[in-house]
Amino acid sequence: MIKFLDIQKINQQHSEEIHNAVSRVIDSGWYLLGEENYEFEKNFSEYIGVKHCINVANGLDALRIILKAYIELGHMQEGDEIIVPANTFIASILAITDNRLTPILIEPSIITYQIDDKKIEDAITSKTKAIMIVHLYGQCSYTEKIKVLCKKYDLKLIEDNAQAVGCNFDTYKTGALGDAAGHSFYPGKNLGALGDAGAVTTNDNQLAETVRILANYGSKIKYEFNCQGLNSRMDEIQAAILNVKLKYLDNDNETRRNRAKYYIDNIHNSNIILPQVNDWNAHVFHLFVVRTNKRDEVINNLSSKDIQALIHYPIPPHKQKAYSGWNNSKYPISEKIHNEIISLPISQIITEEEMNIVVDTINSFSN
Ligand SMILES: *Cc1c(COP(=O)(O)O)cnc(C)c1O
Repeated sequence: MIKFLDIQKINQQHSEEIHNAVSRVIDSGWYLLGEENYEFEKNFSEYIGVKHCINVANGLDALRIILKAYIELGHMQEGDEIIVPANTFIASILAITDNRLTPILIEPSIITYQIDDKKIEDAITSKTKAIMIVHLYGQCSYTEKIKVLCKKYDLKLIEDNAQAVGCNFDTYKTGALGDAAGHSFYPGKNLGALGDAGAVTTNDNQLAETVRILANYGSKIKYEFNCQGLNSRMDEIQAAILNVKLKYLDNDNETRRNRAKYYIDNIHNSNIILPQVNDWNAHVFHLFVVRTNKRDEVINNLSSKDIQALIHYPIPPHKQKAYSGWNNSKYPISEKIHNEIISLPISQIITEEEMNIVVDTINSFSN
C-alpha cells in the first residue's frame, strides 16, 4: 500500500526529539502561554523574516483573527468585500464570512490553479478592503500585479499560507509578502504539529498587538478585557514539537521539490496534465496535483495497485451546502479544475521505489 501521506513515518524520523520535547513540557507543569510558545514565535518570525509571530490554535483562526483585528482597528467593517480565489479550501472563505465580510470569488488560472491576477481589478469596488491570496498546493500565488493593485486601491494584502510554509518568492518567504499572513500547522501540512496549531505573522505592530489580544479573550492585562476576543491559543506541547520540526522544514521542502521533479520528469501520459512550474523555489509541493478528464478511471487504476490518491477538493466552495445562496453563481474554470484534479502521493519520506510504482501505474494507463 502506498499511502497518500504517512504522517506516522514522518514523525518517527524525529521520535526521540519529539518525545523529549513533550516530556519537557509535561514535567514543567506549564501548558499555555509559556516559554515554548515564546521560543516558537521567535524562531518562526525569524524564519519567515517578519517582526511578529503570534501563535494561535489553528490556521482557520489565524485568518479569522487577522480579519477580526482589522475590523477592531477600523480598517474594515461588516459587509466589506474581501477578494479570494474561487478554488480555495473552505477555511479561507469561512474566515471571511465568520467576520460578516463578503468573499468575492475570483477564478484561478487553469495553468497554475492560483488566483488569476488579470481578473482581480474588475472585481474591486468601493467596499473592497483586502485581497486574500492563497498559496494553494504549496505554490506561491503572489505577483507584482497584485501588489500594485493593493497599492492603487489601498487594500490590505493577506496571505493564506496554510499550504506553503517555507515557500520562497524572490528573496522573501511567503508569509512575508503582504500585510499579514495566516499559517497552519495541521498534522498533514508541510510543517505539521501533532494536533491543531496555527500562527499569524506580520510586520505591523498595531495589528500584531490586536491579534494577540483578540486570541487571548480580548485581554492584555489579566482579567481586563479591551475587546470581545476569543480563546485561540497554541498549547505548549505543540509549540515544543514545532520548535523541533521547524529545523527540518527547509530540508523537507527541498526533498518534496526533488520528488515533484521526479514525477514531472518521469510521468508521460497524454491523459495527464502535470503541474507547471516556472520557479522551483516558489513551490513547496504540499500537494502534487495533476489534471485529467479521465479522473475516475485514473483513480481506479491507482487504487487497483494499492496507491492512495486524493482530490483537493472535490466540490468548490460556491457549490457547498454551507453557501447554498451562491448556487447560481458560475465559476467554470474553478469547476473544471475541481472536476479534473487528482493529488498524487508526495512527501519528504516517500521513496523512489514507491514513486516508481506510481509513475509506472500512471504511464501504463491508457484509455
Ligand atoms: C489547512 C488550511 C487552512 C486551515 O488550517 P487549519 O489549521 O486546518 O485550521 C486554511 N487555508 C488553507 C488553504 C488550508 O489548506
